[in-house]
Amino acid sequence: MQYPVDTHTHTVASSHAYSTIHDYLAVAKQKGIRLFATTDHGPAMADAPHFWHFVNLRVLPRMVDGVGILRGIEANIKNRDGEIDYFGDYLSHLDIVLAGFHEPVFAPSDKATHTEAMINAIKSGKVDIITHPGNPAYPIDIEAVVTAAAQYGVALEINNSSFEVSRKGSEANCTAIAKAAKALGATLVMGSDSHVAFSLGGFDRALSIINAVDYPKDKLLNRSPMALLDFLTLRGHQTVADFIPLFRDEAF
Ligand SMILES: [Zn+2]
Ligand SMILES: [Zn+2]
Repeated sequence: MQYPVDTHTHTVASSHAYSTIHDYLAVAKQKGIRLFATTDHGPAMADAPHFWHFVNLRVLPRMVDGVGILRGIEANIKNRDGEIDYFGDYLSHLDIVLAGFHEPVFAPSDKATHTEAMINAIKSGKVDIITHPGNPAYPIDIEAVVTAAAQYGVALEINNSSFEVSRKGSEANCTAIAKAAKALGATLVMGSDSHVAFSLGGFDRALSIINAVDYPKDKLLNRSPMALLDFLTLRGHQTVADFIPLFRDEAF
């Protein structure tokens, strides 16, 4: 099955990525992706777009030729307090907020620090999805993080790129995270983390992890546009209401 929702993509606004919104729309139409989030790196990364990139995402149309575009960010978890590099009222104008650890912003240290930072980001209420929590460069106490994610209704990402181009050696951690998510009732989402449009909606490797632990597919946020939109509404994103009439009648 092709999962029709991708929550994690980068455009040319991050200069180590190579596609535009138009490129993503073209691939989405080819592959049957119905909804994707544009989530460039938060401003603390060296080659991230300027802060204004995120403020001005409101110029994007909601739908183009039947493909929905969510306005998002992949923010950086900056410190042990779990603070991120995007804040204030600006956050309420985004449809979706991802956050994760990136070496240039938060250097890897030790398991206790990573765990505390990630849990504090989860508890902050500002982050909907933690990106690549299985990154072996940042060991975490998986049970503690997954417990917090379940408690605070934050989704954990199984990042497809982690098995292909970056973060090599993520398989064991991701499998343990998926297993714990199943046991503790946490929500998982697959992200292609595309840095070029061709990989939009490519989830093969992430899916094999999810299948290996038999994580319930009816909890995967990628299963339908409405599944993700309902999740984001519950998390307080009023802006996603724009999409609900467009997708409401679709099968779950
Ligand atoms: Zn990332
Ligand atoms: Zn990313």
